[in-house]
Amino acid sequence: MKLDYSSVDRSPRSARRIVLAASVCVVGLAILVSRESIAKRDLSTPSFSEDVAIAEAVAYEQAIQSAVSDPLVVPEASEWSSVRIEPGETLSTVFETEGLDTAQWMSILELGPDARQLKRIKAGDTLEIRKSGDDLLELRYELDDLRTLHVERVGDHFEANTLTADLARSTRTITGTIDSSLFIAGQKAGLPVRMVMELAELFRYDIDFALDLRDGDRFTVVMEELYKDGVKLRDGDMLAAEFVNQGKVHRAVRFKDGEGRSAFYTPDGQSLRKAFFRTPLDVVRVSSPFNLRRRHPILNTIRAHKGVDYAASSGTPIKATGDGKVAFIGNKGGYGRVVILQHGQQYETLYAHMSRFRAGMKAGAKVKQGQVIGYVGASGLATAPHLHYEFRVNGVHKNPVNIVMPRANPIARAQLPKFQSQIVPLIAQIESARAPRVAQAPAAILPAISAATP
Ligand SMILES: [Zn+2]
Repeated sequence: MKLDYSSVDRSPRSARRIVLAASVCVVGLAILVSRESIAKRDLSTPSFSEDVAIAEAVAYEQAIQSAVSDPLVVPEASEWSSVRIEPGETLSTVFETEGLDTAQWMSILELGPDARQLKRIKAGDTLEIRKSGDDLLELRYELDDLRTLHVERVGDHFEANTLTADLARSTRTITGTIDSSLFIAGQKAGLPVRMVMELAELFRYDIDFALDLRDGDRFTVVMEELYKDGVKLRDGDMLAAEFVNQGKVHRAVRFKDGEGRSAFYTPDGQSLRKAFFRTPLDVVRVSSPFNLRRRHPILNTIRAHKGVDYAASSGTPIKATGDGKVAFIGNKGGYGRVVILQHGQQYETLYAHMSRFRAGMKAGAKVKQGQVIGYVGASGLATAPHLHYEFRVNGVHKNPVNIVMPRANPIARAQLPKFQSQIVPLIAQIESARAPRVAQAPAAILPAISAATP
């Protein structure tokens, strides 16, 4: 048998090089890898070269283990200790129970606004302290997820710094198919509830989630996840979304404009926002569609139904579908309690059968799109609580369900090149979600793992 030292030697040496550059968690993985290779070799007939390999691997593993434990060695004096705050405790009582000079906590509180947060420590908080006798040497306190207050003795006084953790950002793609409701499909796919709402809000100008949703409709969301020290801290923002409704593809991408305002746009730079919402209610089912020849349920005569009836329980908030002002508010025959909004010169919207108006609404008042103007009821000619909604263009009734709505502001021309380059990876991520699903690891963590893989 030929001894081939060079091949035996190669992998540990190159692995060592990686260890030098990589972090502790990567080293941990390398240990697993080397253990596995030892186990594999044990299965075959032992030979001299394999003995050498095993001996090398063992020595290598020991070297790594001592390297791993090195950073964990704590100086003998002045160890850090954790103090968990009990109910009723304050900084001064902590100093007392820890046997620290109580004069010191007062000077610490004078070190600035972040240090003053120590006044508000509460049960369950943790203080990390390092002391020498009755002298405090260092103190650490997590102000929030990202910021840690660090107080340190320098000579005869204390200094305070606030350390901000570096957040690693990675993206995650979630995709789902509608089989009952958007909400349930979102839950099944693992989409955070907040994002389900955002998704519905995003496309509410293009899709009437009460009327248009069909089984088999699909959504894809690209969202950001924030990691601190390799551990997921929380979900970030939605970056892009796609909704395929009855075969029609709707897409939205987030973009921060020159003034730092974030908004969603279509991939060609149009605003997703339109002058009008499709519906004045958030959760709706349509009980009577727009129909110019309809038998009226109470009058039993053929009367055009020049609006859309949305069945909803009494008290459901009704939202202004566009910016405008109150042209009429009050009682009006069969409409019952009704609000008419004027939007510019051409458009009017009407909301009837309300149980009550929102407090403070009066004729001439300005309203913003999405602002609650009143609540669903059955006032006037109505058999059950519902919202009767009309949409008029130049005085002519239009079906709000299928009218083409004007879009709000597009991206400024000067911002378009930046926008177009930014959305390329997001669109690619949405499109890759259409391919067969592959287990997705957070992108920020991937490079570290692949560096340790021989
Ligand atoms: Zn009606």
